[in-house]
Order: sequence, then structure tokens, then C-alpha cells
Amino acid sequence: MSSEETAGGESPRRMVLDSEFTMPSFSLTGRVALVTGGGRGLGLGMALALAHAGADIALASRSADELERAAGMIRAIGREVLIVPTDVGDVAAVQKMVNQAAGHYGGLDILVNAAGINFRRPIDTFTEEDWDRIMAVNLKGAFFAAQAARPHMQQRGGGKIINVGSIIFELVVPNIALYAISKGGMRQMTRALSLEYAGDGICVNAIAPGRFWTKMTDAFFSVPELYDSAVSVIPMGRPGTPSDLAGATVLLASAASDYITGQTIFVDGGWLYNGGVKA
Ligand code: NAP
Repeated sequence: MSSEETAGGESPRRMVLDSEFTMPSFSLTGRVALVTGGGRGLGLGMALALAHAGADIALASRSADELERAAGMIRAIGREVLIVPTDVGDVAAVQKMVNQAAGHYGGLDILVNAAGINFRRPIDTFTEEDWDRIMAVNLKGAFFAAQAARPHMQQRGGGKIINVGSIIFELVVPNIALYAISKGGMRQMTRALSLEYAGDGICVNAIAPGRFWTKMTDAFFSVPELYDSAVSVIPMGRPGTPSDLAGATVLLASAASDYITGQTIFVDGGWLYNGGVKA
């Protein structure tokens, strides 16, 4: 790095002229993305968004049948896909997953940590085993995936890590204490990684979905009274769908976000700032 440059990019040490404006690309052509939790739901939606923008994809989760189905959807877009069945609660398996994806494609540019679980119960019913499992899947797996991805991204001259957080980054609702604690940790993890990886041109950001109707929330939304109560506090008047994450995903994976790091984009139909956070 010369004395005129700063970490994460060149600094000409002068005002950049209006005539020097360059439009960064949102295209992901030639990029490789690894998506955990990519077999279904929000992770699969994010993988499809990345593939539509041009990236080749590695998909990880535990269910090989879901990964096969998801892989077919990526191939239908015309992109390459690798499936890597993995339990992200196992650190050695996470390291193997990252190295396998990078080894297959000859590099890694984008990591999406979307694998997640939730146990919906009152605080006093949780066991030590529940604590260890939810922290291992939601927090530890994402941390060690980022750590394992760093050298591969360094070799590419930079990269993008996107952590799938939750609106629970900012608020809490009853009966999901362990989930809330794990996602709270993920928010600080995103900030901590962003500082230490910025010098390598690696941006680390989070997407925080509000309420989305997926397998994780199906039992909740299938009860009409709960659906009505949840939707009543969302200004957009509906739960989110995986397609609603596509724009934020491509932004945070592309050169268009090269000066954005440590941040969270809330994709919540306006719920967070609606004041009444019942539901
Ligand atoms: P989902 O349909 O249940 O999908 C979860 C994904 O994570 C699945 O692919 C699942 O596959 C994978 N997964 C779970 N445990 C895993 C493990 N130990 N190792 C590897 N993969 C694992 O739920 P979703 O709603 O799409 O959730 C995706 C992410 O969004 C999660 O991080 C969740 O916390 C977050 N989120 C969801 C909502 C919402 O309203 N739905 C809101 C905010 C945030 P296998 O079970 O086959 O392993």
C-alpha cells in the first residue's frame, strides 16, 4: 500500500472531480457465492437472486434432497451450482464447506450466512442443550464460515459477507429469547468482522428480515389470528417473500456496495418504525 492509499481502496488525496464519476456494477458475472441455508426459504431466495445477477453458486444445508431441488432452480437460470451438505453447527464441517466451495470454483467472492433455527418457547423451559444448539447454528457457524472465507477472498482482492440477521437486531418479542440472543450476537459479529476485514476489501454487512412466511414461521402464520395480528403492525400490510430480499442481497454482494460495511439493511415492510411492535 503506498502512502497515498488507504485500506480498502485507493485514495488520490484530492477531491475527485465530477467528471471522474464512475458507475459501479451490480453485475455478479464471474463471481462465486456460497450460501448456507440455501436449500429453501430465504437462503434459497438469496441464492436465486445472486444467480440471476450472474454468480455461480455453492449451496449448503443439512437436507440433501432440498439442496438437489434448489440446485435445479439455479441451473434453470443458467448458472453453475455445487451442493455441499453441511451442519453449520460443526466448526470443522464449516471449514470443509468453505474450502470445498472455493476449491471447486477456484475461488470465493461472496458468503451468505443464512442458515438459522428458532425455538419458540418461554425462557424458563430452555435447556443448556437448546442454548448450545441455537448459538452453534445461528452464531458460531456464521463466524467460522467468515473466518474460513477470508483467505479465499484475500486471494481475489476482496469479497462480500452477508449475514442474515433479523428485525430482532433491534427489538424483542416474547418466547424467542435464545433466537434473539443469537441474532444480537450476530449484529456485533457483523460490526467486528467489518472492522478487521476492511483492509482486505472485504465488506461485511447484514440483512435483517422482518416477518417472512417460510417453513420457519409456517406454524405461526398458519393460525389466522396470529397472521392477522402480525400483519396488522406491518405498514406494507403483508409478510415478506423471498423475492423481497433480492434487491438488498444483490446490492450487498456487488461492487455497488464497495464502501458499505458493518451495516444492516432492514427489509421489514416498515415494521421496525411502526411504534407498536405487538405480534
Ligand atoms: P427456513 O425455511 O427454516 O430455512 C432455514 C435454512 O437453514 C434451511 O435451508 C435449513 O436447512 C438451514 N439450516 C438449519 N439448520 C442448519 C444447520 N445446522 N446446518 C446447515 N443448515 C441449516 O427458515 P427461513 O425463514 O428461510 O430462515 C432463513 C434465515 O432467515 C434464518 O437465519 C432466519 O433466522 C432468518 N430470518 C427469518 C425470518 C422469517 O420471518 N422467516 C425473519 C428474520 C430472519 P436444513 O434444515 O436442511 O439444514
